[in-house]
Amino acid sequence: MKKFRVLLLSVILSVLMALRAFASTEIGLNLDWRYAANSRINTGKAVLYTTDASHKKGITIAVNAGHGTKGGESVQTLCHPDGSKKLSGGTTAAGSVTSFAVSSGMTFSDGTPEHVVTRQLAHAFMKQLLAEGYDVLMLRDGEDVQLDNVARTVIANNRANCHIALHWDSTSQNKGAFYMSTPDGLKGMEPVASIWKKHENLGESLLYGLRKSGVKIYSSGSMPMDLTQTAYSTIPSVDIELGDRISDHSDACIQTLAKALTDGVNKYYGFS
Ligand SMILES: [Zn+2]
Repeated sequence: MKKFRVLLLSVILSVLMALRAFASTEIGLNLDWRYAANSRINTGKAVLYTTDASHKKGITIAVNAGHGTKGGESVQTLCHPDGSKKLSGGTTAAGSVTSFAVSSGMTFSDGTPEHVVTRQLAHAFMKQLLAEGYDVLMLRDGEDVQLDNVARTVIANNRANCHIALHWDSTSQNKGAFYMSTPDGLKGMEPVASIWKKHENLGESLLYGLRKSGVKIYSSGSMPMDLTQTAYSTIPSVDIELGDRISDHSDACIQTLAKALTDGVNKYYGFS
């Protein structure tokens, strides 16, 4: 009987530990937050996971699994908070004032949609960050989360210390990883003017982690791009492209990328 009680107690304890490790809180968009009024899709919730590591860092990383909002291309949002024109092309042409609230993303050459892979990497990255003592704000935890790029960015601005969006590019060259840097023309516009140097530092730190893990890097490792995320971010914020349509996205590769990005975050915050 005593043995049974000990066993029962240990089962209860391990269940409690497991629950504690995955302690999470839903966070929606507060429409009073700066720029929140520019969002059009914001009924979904981000999920904040709290680390259970003994060495807590007191830093929250917003992880943004790119794409994955049904109907995201049927609504438009302002490219820049002040309604000025977009400087560089991409999913939306230069000169546009609005762009897709959330684009659908590309499809890998093997038929896998980009949003499936960005979410796989986001979860692998989250696990490593939690183990390292970071808290993690998952901007898209589920398959379809009704938060547009403006909403995701504004939630990150208010509830995280930095924002890392995960993407693969739409080319078919296996060109390697790079981050989207701040175009010169945006560097005078707020909030970009006050924060863009930190975006670049975060991008370079992520490249450091990727290089250390032997991940192929495209050209200099960065490409200037006028993104909604960049235009609305008031915290260090980077869109990182981990490869393109023909790049490896096997489980092993995802694990390598998650580890490399975690090394990059440690580098940025001075823990390596
Ligand atoms: Zn993408």
